Amino acid sequence: MNIAVLKGDGIGPEVVNEAIKVLNKIGEKYSLEIDTKEALIGGSAIDAVGIPLPDETIDLCLKSDAVLLGAVGGPKWDSMKGSLRPEAGLLGLRKALQVYANLRPAILFKELVSSSNLKEEVLGIGLNLLIVRELIGGAYFGEKGREKIEGGYRAYDTIEYKSSEITRILKTGFEAAGKRNKKLTLVDKANVLESSKLWRETAKEMSKSYPDIQLNFMYVDNAAMQLINNPHQFDVIVTENMFGDILSDEASMLTGSLGNLPSASLGDEKAALYEPIHGSAPDIAGRSMANPIGTIMSIGMMLKYSFNMDKAAEDIENAVSRVLEKGYRTKDIISEGKVLVTTKKMGDLIVNEI
Ligand code: NAD
Repeated sequence: MNIAVLKGDGIGPEVVNEAIKVLNKIGEKYSLEIDTKEALIGGSAIDAVGIPLPDETIDLCLKSDAVLLGAVGGPKWDSMKGSLRPEAGLLGLRKALQVYANLRPAILFKELVSSSNLKEEVLGIGLNLLIVRELIGGAYFGEKGREKIEGGYRAYDTIEYKSSEITRILKTGFEAAGKRNKKLTLVDKANVLESSKLWRETAKEMSKSYPDIQLNFMYVDNAAMQLINNPHQFDVIVTENMFGDILSDEASMLTGSLGNLPSASLGDEKAALYEPIHGSAPDIAGRSMANPIGTIMSIGMMLKYSFNMDKAAEDIENAVSRVLEKGYRTKDIISEGKVLVTTKKMGDLIVNEI
């Protein structure tokens, strides 16, 4: 397997180093030939070559089987404009790889129930939901602009979806639900948005081809409330770009820390992109305080979705679970009576459990 590794900025390199150790351990266990090659993205690419997404990086990613990314951005580059910002590198990469489906599981390890802000009776045990977010359409990519009008400005962003764009992401949602508990919730705002109405009509039509999947609909404002009120009602949520962006961050807090959660961004033909859901955390960068679990679990998703190695993915999940069970915690998830460990130590402990 050829893996492109984009460590990025801030805590990116620290968490990716631990994930690579885990990948190599899996490689040993299953006798895999793994070839990892690094390239620049984000602020570190700006520092080296003046732009956040060099052509060499795109080329390497396009010819790899999968891409592992840390995170991009930081205060050093905050004053840069538009396409020269580190985050533009990430949006450009998603577009170049045509990864339209962003899968964000929110899994609460039972050992971390007390790290969540929610009461234990709401969280219960075994919370495990999946948000499937459309990633390269909607308001973030639609026509936008600003014009001067009397008394100020008029600014607009447009939400636009074609049937084909809706169908392919809904297919990802139905198929993901089919591999899980067979329940799919389409989150939209079909009472006011025309684009949402098209999503609903398309989903109803498609559900005829997935008779074993229970499809239901929920308005996004209600979904935001229901995630906190009763998160166990959800199995797979499928939704458009902006709603998914917001709801997946909300769901991450059910699990205790942003640092725990992985993601996979999948397309049809090119390499898939795997990254933790957190950013570059400049406030803790360089201090070996970052939680590498989200990035390590992203390797699990890579093994599952790019290489069909479900068993190896399970090995990683179980290893993380055992390390937590033994009481080891990074600072973001520490609680009384637990053992505080560095980023590197957490990586080593997980490797030892595999
Ligand atoms: P952030 O996710 O970097 O950090 C938010 C908070 O969570 C911070 O207090 C941080 O210390 C903590 N945190 C995040 N990841 C952690 C981990 N693995 N272990 C322990 N604690 C962790 O979000 P932010 O502060 O809003 O953004 C910082 C920079 O990251 C900005 O430049 C932003 O644009 C960028 N960003 C990048 C991505 C990405 O690369 N995908 C995503 C979000 C933000």
